Amino acid sequence: MSKLVTIAVPCPLRRGFDYLWPDTLQLDPEIGMRVTIPFGPRRLVGVIIATDVSNDIPSHKMKAVLKVLDTRPTLPPDLVELGCWGAEYYHHPIGDCIQQMLPVTLRKAEQAKEKPAQYWQCSDQIHRLPPLSTRAHKQRSLLAIVQQSGQLSRRQIKDLGYSNNILNPLIDGGYLSKADAPSANTAHLQAEKPTLNREQEAAVGAITATLGRFERFLLDGVTGSGKTEVYLRAIESCLARGEQVLVLIPEIGLTPQTLQRFEQRFPANVSTLHSGLSDGERLHNWQKIQSGEHKIVLGTRSAVFTPFNNLGLIIVDEEHDASYKQQDGWRYSARDIAVKRGSDHHCPVVLGSATPSLDSLHNIAQSRYRLLELRERAGGASAPSIRLLDIRNESLDEGLSKSLLDATTRTLNAGNQALVFLNRRGFSPQLQCHSCGWLANCQACDAKMTVHFGRRELRCHHCDASEPLPTICPQCHNHQLIYQGPGTERLELSLRRHFPDVPIYRIDRDTTSAKGSMQSLVNDIRTGKPCILVGTQMLAKGHHFPDVTLVGIVDIDGGLFSADFRGPERSGQLLIQVAGRAGRADKPGTVYIQTHCPDHPALQALVNSGYQPFAQQLLAERRLFSLPPISFSAVIRADATSLQGAEDFLEQIKAALPLGDTQWSIVGPLPAPMTRKAGRFRAALILQAERRSLLHTQLHTACHIGDQLNKPQNLRWSVDVDPIDLF
Ligand code: ADP
Ligand code: ZN
Ligand code: ZN
Repeated sequence: MSKLVTIAVPCPLRRGFDYLWPDTLQLDPEIGMRVTIPFGPRRLVGVIIATDVSNDIPSHKMKAVLKVLDTRPTLPPDLVELGCWGAEYYHHPIGDCIQQMLPVTLRKAEQAKEKPAQYWQCSDQIHRLPPLSTRAHKQRSLLAIVQQSGQLSRRQIKDLGYSNNILNPLIDGGYLSKADAPSANTAHLQAEKPTLNREQEAAVGAITATLGRFERFLLDGVTGSGKTEVYLRAIESCLARGEQVLVLIPEIGLTPQTLQRFEQRFPANVSTLHSGLSDGERLHNWQKIQSGEHKIVLGTRSAVFTPFNNLGLIIVDEEHDASYKQQDGWRYSARDIAVKRGSDHHCPVVLGSATPSLDSLHNIAQSRYRLLELRERAGGASAPSIRLLDIRNESLDEGLSKSLLDATTRTLNAGNQALVFLNRRGFSPQLQCHSCGWLANCQACDAKMTVHFGRRELRCHHCDASEPLPTICPQCHNHQLIYQGPGTERLELSLRRHFPDVPIYRIDRDTTSAKGSMQSLVNDIRTGKPCILVGTQMLAKGHHFPDVTLVGIVDIDGGLFSADFRGPERSGQLLIQVAGRAGRADKPGTVYIQTHCPDHPALQALVNSGYQPFAQQLLAERRLFSLPPISFSAVIRADATSLQGAEDFLEQIKAALPLGDTQWSIVGPLPAPMTRKAGRFRAALILQAERRSLLHTQLHTACHIGDQLNKPQNLRWSVDVDPIDLF
C-alpha cells in the first residue's frame, strides 16, 4: 500500500491536504521537502508537513504527488513546526504560512541555483590611472572604502548605499578589478573594542550566562547608550560556543554603519536578509546560513524564518518598531515569533529598545522578561534637553514658529546642524478653494489629496491615485486656491528661503525612493558641515547624526489624539527616537517641540520625566481599562464594495459568537474611521479576552463561520491577532 503525506498547499484554505506517495518517486518522504502536486486544474508546489499519515479516504479517490523537488528537506523540521504553530496562532492558512517562509526562488518548481557572489578590490594598476575628478564624490568615497576593506562584494557595496551607476564606471575605468573570494585578511578590519561601562558589563554578563537555555531579556537603553556594543559582545560569546546568531532590525534600520560594525567585528561571517536584495542574493544568503558557513544573520522581518544549523542567540533591535508586524496576508509579529524560536531552540532572546513597547514593559512587570538597563549614554555623551514651544496664538511661517527659526539660526551660526521633523510628506496635506470652499478629495477614499508641488500633482497617500495639480477651482473656476498646512516639501522650501546659503537635505519617501539615495544623503550630512535636515519618520530610525544639536518637532499633536488607543504610545516613541538622533559627548542636543497643547498630561510626562515614566503612565491606563497588553485582542476586518456588505458579513460572525461577559468582549462591526479606501468600504469587529486561550477559541469559531458563510462577491476578510492597529 502507498504511503500518505500531508502537504501545505499555497491556497486560502485553513488546512493541509493528504496525497499518495507513489513508489515511483524512489525516495522516502521527509518533512520539509518540496513537491509538485495536482490541485484542482493546476499544478502547485507544496511542502510536506507530515509523513506516515492515515485517513479514511479510499486510495483510488486520492491524488498522488507528481514530483519531489528536493533530495533533502528545504525547510528543516523545526521551521515546518514553527509554520504550523504560526498558522494556528494567527488563524491563517498553513499553505500560505509555509510558502512565505521560503525565499521566493524556492516557491517555484525550478531547481534552486546558487548565485555566486562577485567581489571587487582596488586594481594593481590604480596608481597609473588618472585620479578621479574631484566632482565624482561618490566614486571617490566608494574607492576609499574598497581600499580600506580589501574586498567587497557587489551586495556589500549596494548595502553601503552605492548603486551600480557609481560602481560600474570604477570597474570600466580599471580602478577596481575582480577578486576571487573574500580573503581571510579582512581580519585586519577587526575594530578596536571599547571598554564596557558598568551597565554594559552587567548586561553582557547576564546574557552570556544564559547561553544554552531559553531566557528573555529586555535591554532598555537610551539611544547611544551602547546597546549595539552589548549585542556585539554577546554575539562574540555565542560564536565562541560554535553557535549561530539571529539579529533582527527594523525595515529601514539596516544602515551601512550598522552593517559595517557587524562586518568589521565578525569578518566573513555575516549574511544580510532584507527587502533590498534580489531573489538570488536572498537565496544565496539563506543557504549560507543553513549550511552553517555563515554564523550571523542581520535581517528584517522575514529573516525570523531563516533556517539555522545551530542557533544560539536571538537579538531583536528596536523591538517596539511597527515594521516587525506584517500588515497583510499572514499578519505575524517577527518579534513575537523570535521569542517563540528562542524557546524552540533553547537560547536567550534579547529585545532591545530606547523606547520599549508597552507589551515588553508589561512582560517585565509580570516577571516574564528580565530587565537590563543602560541609563547613561556611552562614552560620556549627555541626553538632549527637551522644551515645549507653545504655538497657540503664535503666527507661524509655513508651520515654523519664530522661536524655532531663531534657534535654527543660532545652531547654524555655531557651526552645527539642525533637524526639522514633521511626519507628513508632500507640500501640503490639503488644497482648498478660498472662494467656494471646495476641497481636493480623493475619488476613491474618504481622504484629502496631498499637494506635491514639485511634481505639480495631487496624490492620495492611501490609494496612490494622482491627478495634475489644478490651477483654478474645478467648482467655481476661481484662481484663489490655498494650501492648508505644511508637509516636508513645503518646510524645505520655506527653510531655503530663510537660509539661502545653507545646504538643506530633505529625507522622506519622495526623496529617498531610489536605492542608495538615502545613504548618499547621509554620507553628505556626516561630513559635519552646517546644514538643515528636514524629514519624516525616516529620520527617526537607524541613523545617528552626531553633528545635529537642534531637533525641531513641527507638529506632534495629531498622534496624541488619534482614534487608536495606541496613538500616544507611538507618538511618544517617535518623539523620543527623533530626539535621540541628536548630540554627542562634546555637543549636547536640544529638542524643541511645537505644540498647541503644552498642558497635555502625556506630553508633560514625556518632556519632564522621560520615556519610562510616560510609558508606565500609559500602562496604568491600559490596566484600568483592561486593554492590551493586559488583555488579548484580535480584529476581524472585512471590506467590500458597500459598507452594508462588509458590516453584514461581520454581523453574521458576531451572531455565532457568545455575548460579551466579564472575561470576553466583542465590539462592532464598526466602520473604519476612514471607511472608504481605494473604492472599498471597510469595517471591523474587535475581539478582546482576559485569557489568550479564550480568544483563540472564539477566533476558531469565527474563522469556521467566516469560511462557511455565503459572501457577497468581492468581499475580502482577514483576521489579525495581536493587532497594532484597530482598523
Ligand atoms: P545604541 O545601540 O544604544 O544606540 P551604540 O552601541 O551604537 O549605542 O553606541 C553609541 C556609540 O558609543 C557608538 O559610537 C559606540 O561605538 C560608542 N560606545 C559604545 N559603548 C562604548 C563604551 N563602553 N565606551 C566608549 N564608547 C562606547
Ligand atoms: Zn471654488
Ligand atoms: Zn485615495
